[in-house]
Amino acid sequence: MKALVIDKADLIHNIESVKKYADKTLPDDNGNKLKIIAVVKANGYGFGIVPYTQFLIDNGIDFFAVATIEEALKLREAGIKENILMLSSTAIREEVEKLVENNIILCVGSKEAAEVANEIGKEQNKKIRCHLKIDTGFGRYGFIYCEREKMIEAIKPLENIKIEGTFTHFSIAFYNKDEYTKLQFKRFIDCVEVLKMNEIETGMLHCCNSSAFIKFPEMHLNAVRIGSCFTGKMAFTNTLGLKTVGKFKSNVVEIKTLPKGFNVGYSNSYTTKQETKVAIIPVGNMTGVNMDCGDDMFRAVDKLRNFVGAFKNLFKNRALYVNINGQKCKILGRIGTYHVTVDISGKNINIGDEVIIDINPKYLDSSIQRIYE
Ligand SMILES: *Cc1c(COP(=O)(O)O)cnc(C)c1O
Repeated sequence: MKALVIDKADLIHNIESVKKYADKTLPDDNGNKLKIIAVVKANGYGFGIVPYTQFLIDNGIDFFAVATIEEALKLREAGIKENILMLSSTAIREEVEKLVENNIILCVGSKEAAEVANEIGKEQNKKIRCHLKIDTGFGRYGFIYCEREKMIEAIKPLENIKIEGTFTHFSIAFYNKDEYTKLQFKRFIDCVEVLKMNEIETGMLHCCNSSAFIKFPEMHLNAVRIGSCFTGKMAFTNTLGLKTVGKFKSNVVEIKTLPKGFNVGYSNSYTTKQETKVAIIPVGNMTGVNMDCGDDMFRAVDKLRNFVGAFKNLFKNRALYVNINGQKCKILGRIGTYHVTVDISGKNINIGDEVIIDINPKYLDSSIQRIYE
């Protein structure tokens, strides 16, 4: 058995905590409350994009954002009618057509993307819904903040796009150095001013991801884009009392006792130091184990292990563990694609016992079952 188990009560707790905190932000000049846009990219942060989005809808969320066209279409195919915003800009005509056909709000981050959208709008004799994306120092999608004139020139003449929003994305809001986020915010606001001066509609303004939402209430503007606040996996200690949602569970499938001096796993990086009772668990890299532990060092350490076996003992205390019947058990040797071997010496553990593995569900194979309970 392998499944990601999502505790509905905990998820609701997080959704309600986010809403409550959002409600502290004063409504805008038109009396609109701060809008919550739920980001459901990466298979809904691993919670299964369709059931997760549906769960959010059932709990009062009505605006979603995705990173890929596949994600957007998956939601529409599942019959989800709510607003869906694309977070990535595209100037590829077939993609834009597909998005428009499915009433997805485009992200427009370049002259080319704007022109393709406008062209399609002209052909269909309508205005294509979009949000403008400003690159305030991320180096990804968006009009470059210091090339405002180019942006104005590109946007101003287009009559078949309807700008319903303008946004930017922060690169380091989770970190305790706030200056860069504040600088990005200023660059964004300056661009918005210039758009307004040129009588270009900016629509709803948004820049906050989960970290910025919590840390910078003064940057909330009209909407916030919330991903990790809902799942509770935040990169910094937060004040909202969010719960970590999603437990990856499996079972012990085999138990045996290895003699002293026995190799465990690929690359022969681990040898038993004494007779060792081990349990085999059918989880590995393909099910997200060791893919993201909130600390990049793990990956770096893993790489080092590959190349410099002799260094391995230096990193002893960076070992990874799984939890079996509430007992911490150490993973021995390299993690396999679908299997790990753990040390259960001196522990009362049996075949079939439940194993809980700490993973980031984003890296969990989409074919694995998601259970909401
Ligand atoms: C992923 C993403 C978010 C949400 O980030 P969280 O930190 O998980 O809240 C917001 N905006 C954009 C553009 C994103 O790509």
